[in-house]
Amino acid sequence: MSKRDYYEILGVSKSASEAEIKKAYRKLAIQYHPDKNPDDKEAEEKFKEAAEAYEVLSNPEKKQRYDQFGHAGMGGAAGGGFGGGMSMDDIFSQFGDIFGGAFGGAFGGGGFGGGRGRRVRKGSNLRVRVKMTLEDIANGVEKKIKVTKLVNAEGVTTKTCPQCNGTGHITRIANTILGQMQTSSPCGTCGGDGQIIDKKPDGANADGLIKKEEVITIDIPAGVEDGMQLSVTGKGNAGPKGGIPGDLIVLIEEIPHDTIKRDGVNLLYDLYLNFVDAALGTECEIQTITGKVKIKIEPGTQSGKVLRLKGKGLPNIQGYGGKGDFLIYVNVWTPQKLSKEEKATLEKLRGSENFKPNPTSKDKGFFDRMKDYFK
Ligand SMILES: [Zn+2]
Repeated sequence: MSKRDYYEILGVSKSASEAEIKKAYRKLAIQYHPDKNPDDKEAEEKFKEAAEAYEVLSNPEKKQRYDQFGHAGMGGAAGGGFGGGMSMDDIFSQFGDIFGGAFGGAFGGGGFGGGRGRRVRKGSNLRVRVKMTLEDIANGVEKKIKVTKLVNAEGVTTKTCPQCNGTGHITRIANTILGQMQTSSPCGTCGGDGQIIDKKPDGANADGLIKKEEVITIDIPAGVEDGMQLSVTGKGNAGPKGGIPGDLIVLIEEIPHDTIKRDGVNLLYDLYLNFVDAALGTECEIQTITGKVKIKIEPGTQSGKVLRLKGKGLPNIQGYGGKGDFLIYVNVWTPQKLSKEEKATLEKLRGSENFKPNPTSKDKGFFDRMKDYFK
């Protein structure tokens, strides 16, 4: 979008005096002032445009640069920081110079923007921790949790705020050199909602809220992780004076499993086999988080082999990509204590040709197995 010429915006000639520029800007500022044009985007743009033109043309140095280079001379630091146009706050904070202190002060305080009309107050958020086992995480779970939350106390009555007469904002009429200007800011007495507490029971706080124990039921989806925060809209502390309640923030705490480790959506399990079972083959029963699974150990299974139970891991929290896998890491257990007879039996096997390690390319070493696992 090409920028309009500053002189054109203010409707003055290039030879206009400082006084003429100021006068032209005041006229436009009053015409397009947000108080006079509520919710009118076009007026707001015109108001900003005029403020920017005035900011440049009222400053002899900037005006000279603009006269020489046009808008190109205004960019960056040299232009006085106009890169993204002026914010309403910038504009109002410089109003004091032009319209007198009352005007600038009322807006400069940050009152503008938030408070046309009444505000609805929102309750504060309530935080709870929820402990989850891997089994809970695998299936999702409904948790009932006892919380102490702020609720609206019985018997609280409100009345119209006498300070703002229920409008939620304070309107001041400021006398400026241009005549009377109306300014507005949120009411400090009622917090902007137009109502104040009239009667409240003992134990209720200044907002008419009281602490109460409550059992909340939370549906926790499958696949959550330690440290995750879930937000349940509207289940937090009550909003004062009929406002909307805050949110319930649920922090997930994962209880470590005795035998199963989690790695994202995959589950890892260490299986220990004695070397006879590893050599002769056997059947094992493994406790996964969704029940027991029988697996077959082939004769001649090497230590370090990883068996993969497809889809027996955890679901993704977003619900896509299917479930992860349950990975069984085979460890062949070397006996550490042997009886005399056992020693004698093994001694006989020591020299056997079949007992000589003879890895082929098929028997992957540690590094290759790690590569497999991470692919
Ligand atoms: Zn009020």
